[in-house]
Amino acid sequence: MLQLNLHPAGRHFLQIPGPSPVPDRILRAISYPTIDHRGPEFGALGRRVMAGIGAVFKTKQPVVIYPASGTGAWEAALVNTLSPGDAVLMYETGHFATLWKKMAERLGVVPEFLGLPGIEGWRRGVQADVIERHLKADAAHRIKAVCVVHNETSTGVTSDIAAVRRAIDAARHPALLMVDTISGLASADYRHDEWGVDVTVSGSQKGLMLPPGISFNVLSPKALKASESARLPKSFWAWDEIVDMNRNGYWPYTPSTNLLYGLAEAIDMILDEGLDNVFARHQRLAEACRAAVRAWGLEIQCVEEACHSPVLTGVMTPEGVDADRVRQLIYEHFNLSLGAGLGKLKGRMFRIGHLGDCNELTLMATLSGCEMGLRLAGVPLRASGVAAAMSQLQASTRPAARAPAH
Ligand SMILES: *Cc1c(COP(=O)(O)O)cnc(C)c1O
Repeated sequence: MLQLNLHPAGRHFLQIPGPSPVPDRILRAISYPTIDHRGPEFGALGRRVMAGIGAVFKTKQPVVIYPASGTGAWEAALVNTLSPGDAVLMYETGHFATLWKKMAERLGVVPEFLGLPGIEGWRRGVQADVIERHLKADAAHRIKAVCVVHNETSTGVTSDIAAVRRAIDAARHPALLMVDTISGLASADYRHDEWGVDVTVSGSQKGLMLPPGISFNVLSPKALKASESARLPKSFWAWDEIVDMNRNGYWPYTPSTNLLYGLAEAIDMILDEGLDNVFARHQRLAEACRAAVRAWGLEIQCVEEACHSPVLTGVMTPEGVDADRVRQLIYEHFNLSLGAGLGKLKGRMFRIGHLGDCNELTLMATLSGCEMGLRLAGVPLRASGVAAAMSQLQASTRPAARAPAH
């Protein structure tokens, strides 16, 4: 017989940087009956979602919603805009940037992978000046796209996308700008239109607080134009039919009806709180988390002050301490899941997610679990990170906005 106890007392703390906890309101919305995706009620749902999602991306351009994980939306961005053998510039910020580059190679485009050697590049944001230099050297305009990750989930580094746009403009280069904000959306400020992004890629299970299963491409007129002549094979991912049918709230195939109920609810929740309040809440929690790590005397993976992620914090364990063992102890003793070190950082760090449906006490419980687990693992801590985070939160607290009392 299976001896796993999947339901220990109390609630599980899912503090990985995606999937993030799904709020009850969204779970309830997802439990509505599945309806006819060609019927009139579905059209109303589709139009409602389409009308609301643009605000979250800060765009007036078409948003394509796929019944797929984020990886599918990565593929969609590439196959809709590029042709076999096209050169693309990609930038190595961490594990997710590396996976996107591997995908580009498998699809038959030719990425040039910029970045610093070893793990140095995995501690910093995209260096826009390096991109600018490469584009200026490409007088023949062989490079068709620049692809960067906005919030690198493997490291906790958020890059300056407006600076990448300025670099492309300064080089007077026609390359498309494609940005993965799968884990940044609805947690870190993001502006598809203002930053002149041609294709934004995102997903449902991070800042949007939904289960995994839907993902997004946001287009620009230039990206749509490129898709008319791009020759990589595409069918399921092709934008033209989806964009056309979405105008009336429908899809060319069966969409994820129940996740779209959840998305409508998530959009309401995010816009009710106010996007700027959502971003400020994430910044505040991230600062308190960093105060804890510094008090412990441990190193934060991101070394650039301006690039600390509001979504997650990467915590390096001291030399000789296996970060995966620390995570395992924390999971077994305190029913708390943390993110593992990925790729080059396996065993060297763990990741604390503080995104989506997260507040002060969620973070404090998480930090308590981390602190106890670090001590159990025998990691010498300089001081209490929990105390440091409490002081920080206490000093910056305001009463939560609520509906007026009657
Ligand atoms: C989660 C994530 C992905 C992968 O998305 P899946 O939904 O797992 O396919 C890609 N890029 C980033 C930055 C992510 O955080």
